[in-house]
Amino acid sequence: MTSYEQLLQVLRDQGHRLTPQRLIVLRVVAEGSQHMGVDEVFRKSQAAYPYMDLATVYRTLRLFKQLGLVTEVAIGDRLHYELTDPGERHHHMVCRGCHGAFNLSPHYLEEFNSTLVNEFGFVPDLDHFTITGVCVNCRSEGGEPSDLFPKEVLTHEGHS
Ligand SMILES: [Zn+2]
Ligand SMILES: [Zn+2]
Repeated sequence: MTSYEQLLQVLRDQGHRLTPQRLIVLRVVAEGSQHMGVDEVFRKSQAAYPYMDLATVYRTLRLFKQLGLVTEVAIGDRLHYELTDPGERHHHMVCRGCHGAFNLSPHYLEEFNSTLVNEFGFVPDLDHFTITGVCVNCRSEGGEPSDLFPKEVLTHEGHS
């Protein structure tokens, strides 16, 4: 697990100034829950540092992403951020109901991967694999409401 101090060291080593904004965004991402949206990072950063503005949060997250400190996860049409975990990469299951993201260990996709290679000669890019569905919490809340599956969403799939 990467600690906040190690992340700071990466920033220093790469010659980036440790501005208050960068330190705060880094701490928010490091200590927050996984898969935070930009709005959540912004709210928490601004609570710690009132001079924070949204553009700075975007810029800072983009920098961290370039440095490999954070990973960007597309959840629906929104981007979420989490600390890059160099030891254990994972895929995502994203709920259409609550838009929550759940980690999926890569070993679940090993068989899928070798099936595509062996039967189709096709090497899939599974690095950013994300699958949508309905999570267990949303399913237990009165089954699967039909408005979770609007027809237009289904017809638009594949264009993403
Ligand atoms: Zn859900
Ligand atoms: Zn994740």
